[in-house]
Amino acid sequence: MSEVDVVISGAGPVGTLAAYALAKGGVSVLVAEAGEDCAEDLRASTFHPPTLEMLDQLGIYDELSQQGLIAPIYQYRLRSTGEVIAFDLSELGDMTRFPFRLQAEQFKLSRMLVDRLAGFPSAKVLFQHRLVHFEQDDEGVTVSFETPTDISKVRSKFLIAADGANSIVRKWLGVQFSGFTYPEKFLCLSTDFPIEEHFNNLALVNYVADAEEWLVLLRVPSLWRVLLPADAANSDEALRSDANKDKIFHRLLGNGSVETAHRTIYRVHQRVADRYDHGRVILAGDSAHLNNPLGGLGMNSGIHDAVNLTERLVRIILDKADASSELAHYDRQRRKVMNDFVQAQTIQNKQMLEQKGSLGGDAKYEQMRELNRDPVRRREYLLRQSMFTSLADADNVA
Ligand SMILES: Cc1cc2nc3c(=O)[nH]c(=O)nc-3n(C[C@H](O)[C@H](O)[C@H](O)COP(=O)(O)OP(=O)(O)OC[C@H]3O[C@@H](n4cnc5c(N)ncnc54)[C@H](O)[C@@H]3O)c2cc1C
Repeated sequence: MSEVDVVISGAGPVGTLAAYALAKGGVSVLVAEAGEDCAEDLRASTFHPPTLEMLDQLGIYDELSQQGLIAPIYQYRLRSTGEVIAFDLSELGDMTRFPFRLQAEQFKLSRMLVDRLAGFPSAKVLFQHRLVHFEQDDEGVTVSFETPTDISKVRSKFLIAADGANSIVRKWLGVQFSGFTYPEKFLCLSTDFPIEEHFNNLALVNYVADAEEWLVLLRVPSLWRVLLPADAANSDEALRSDANKDKIFHRLLGNGSVETAHRTIYRVHQRVADRYDHGRVILAGDSAHLNNPLGGLGMNSGIHDAVNLTERLVRIILDKADASSELAHYDRQRRKVMNDFVQAQTIQNKQMLEQKGSLGGDAKYEQMRELNRDPVRRREYLLRQSMFTSLADADNVA
């Protein structure tokens, strides 16, 4: 049976980032991905400033930024009146080299990292390797993979479960995944239609509030993406139909004949694993936590998990640091950020767009106007939404 320091299940952004950080740190690593390649899906596209700092420290930022768009400004828009409240991350230019969001599809990061991992003799990425079983003991973890031709086994010191929302590892560990699932579905349509020509001063990232139909309008290099809620009483087929697409674009642009490149339906959850560290098996990314995409916090949190965890694994494996205390600290820090900030903030972000919540829609929007006018509160808000505040809070968790 082959041996490696760390096995990672899943070659999404979190698994590949963790693998790259470990390989750079001198730890041998195997990434096993069930799919034939890194999935080219329409999910994350926003990288926040502290995540960009982390990517820069790993020497990844420059290459990724060449495949993305720099977005210093994001807007809240009131759909009924067209009012715009703009936030400009350039205001944080005194504290970060990256006072902007980078708009780049998540698979660009995963693919780039898979290519780079090929340059490390101590790193391997195996596609069509689905983790189907693991057993841990005091010395390590034996992991079994199903491949197109057989079942293969690897022995490792640690297993990182970066196998996403439906993590089989989390299920086998029997971890509670507490929280809730939204009753509505989310529909994501992408198009190369020039949506910016139909709105005044549209930014690259726009949250459009409306009691009837809120929207997110996001730009990635080649496409606009339109994300909106969809009635779960309708089948996925009906929601993806031409008739539904035509109605949506007619309401948005007065023109239903817009062509789309993708039409994707998501079920959206707010859930957090009750514990991330389980002996030698550790959860990271979507296997550990899920949240709605409003604010772009899910993948960013997963990358923050990966950076925190891999620094500890390098210390444990190369410097003989105490594994149980390091991993328990990872759990405390990262779960606190998730519960206190990401979950609360994403739920609030959705209420803001829906024009719902304890204060009612108009009052919430008035609060946003006031906040935007006040330079102190606006800076606090920018620091919080861009995830600087939660990372600083995590540093204070003993
Ligand atoms: C519409 C939408 C928009 C979003 N936008 C943003 C955004 O702008 N910013 C942001 O931060 N987040 C965003 N997110 C969230 C983001 O997409 C996820 O948080 C992110 O993909 C999590 O990365 P991951 O690597 O943990 O999991 P995934 O990306 O899901 O990767 C998991 C990988 O594991 C593989 N796998 C599964 N089971 C096994 C197995 N048994 N063995 C081996 N491999 C396995 C899968 O094939 C997959 O490749 C968005 C989500 C949605 C739905």
